[in-house]
Amino acid sequence: MKKKIAILGSTGSIGKTTFDIIKKNKKDFEIILLTTNKNTNKILQQAKLLKVKNILISSQPHYLKIKKKLKNSKIKVHNNLDNLQNIVKRKIDYTMCAISGLSGLKPTIDAIKFSKNIAIANKESIICGWQFIDKALRKNKTNFIPIDSEHFSIWTLLKNQNKNNIKRIYLTASGGPFLNKKNSSIENIKPKYALKHPNWKMGKKISIDSATLMNKIFEVIEAKKIFDLDITKIKIIIHPRSYMHAIVHFNNGLVKFLAHDTNMAIPIMNSLYMNYKSFIYNNDKLNFEALNGLNFIKPDVKKFPVIKLLNRIKNKYSYFETILISINDFLVDKYLNGEINYFSLNINLMKLIKIPYFTRYYKLKPKNIIDIKIMVKKVNTYLNKIKLN
Ligand code: NDP
Ligand code: MG
Repeated sequence: MKKKIAILGSTGSIGKTTFDIIKKNKKDFEIILLTTNKNTNKILQQAKLLKVKNILISSQPHYLKIKKKLKNSKIKVHNNLDNLQNIVKRKIDYTMCAISGLSGLKPTIDAIKFSKNIAIANKESIICGWQFIDKALRKNKTNFIPIDSEHFSIWTLLKNQNKNNIKRIYLTASGGPFLNKKNSSIENIKPKYALKHPNWKMGKKISIDSATLMNKIFEVIEAKKIFDLDITKIKIIIHPRSYMHAIVHFNNGLVKFLAHDTNMAIPIMNSLYMNYKSFIYNNDKLNFEALNGLNFIKPDVKKFPVIKLLNRIKNKYSYFETILISINDFLVDKYLNGEINYFSLNINLMKLIKIPYFTRYYKLKPKNIIDIKIMVKKVNTYLNKIKLN
């Protein structure tokens, strides 16, 4: 029988990769629901191609336009992302959560209720709302598969392992497009260069976070939450080839590495076929050239000032994660719009995270996802009022 699938954020980088895998393997999968914010052309193309019955368009004007256009079509057009359970009424096999940002949190928790397996790429939701995601996973007995490549690798390496046997986990970082550039040459560098990731093709926001290494700080928090580890056990190491995705050093002296090509289709395809049947990703030979070129470097704090944030991450859950994500989102947006330069992006982030207006919340924690939303608003209201350096 075909697996029933939903893709939240099907028009984004992860969403499109997931869709394309399904398109090539139509005999194994049936898509029940696709969602987008505004990309109506793409979602319509996807829905027609695989005869998807439900599409959801979050942006109200875009929804209204398509709703009118598809008045007599078999495709049902929905608008409310906070009401997924009214669209998917029976349990489905798998949902891919690939909406970017915290808008993905509530839909992820809802999808856990109607999915046997939930694949989560949306790291912001894991970082800020893991407590609520984890609770929903346990309550609904839903299988969770992390999709971020490093976490998919760690998760694979830790199967059948006792957590107490872990000595250290190393998350590999490519170092982004500026690894070998002089600091003085990147202070005013334009976003189009920061978006040129040497190894991965990703959405805009995550590409900027990869250039500053902020993505890796987020991934440390993500790993801490998913694998319930003490923060001191998780380290970052630069590996420019991005062939190795995670290294786990065990107390018994063994070290496990996981390598694969820099293509998100690999973790996604593995998650789709999990516990199902064997499949062939491609027939390429093992990349010995990449293996011979393994090269690991300690990250330089001067190049990547955000590394200092590692000292601020606590084991205890608080508003810190939500505030960090919100400040970074705000600044990345300003940088992408040309309102601040690359230097300011880093400097302001390091400065703002320490101001008393925010630090007073680092001893408090959100009680529910509404508290998280309120905090995001609070941070944005504050940041909109101040003058950035
Ligand atoms: P993209 O920006 O490419 O796509 C995001 C998707 O979410 C799009 O479908 C977009 O719709 C939709 N979306 C965005 N904002 C909203 C909103 N407010 N309401 C409803 N839908 C919305 O992101 P990526 O695919 O790159 O990343 C998705 C998530 O996966 C992120 O959290 C990212 O950190 C994580 N991730 C991504 C990796 C990658 O390789 N790209 C690797 C590891 C993790 P629209 O098309 O209309 O904008
Ligand atoms: Mg990653």
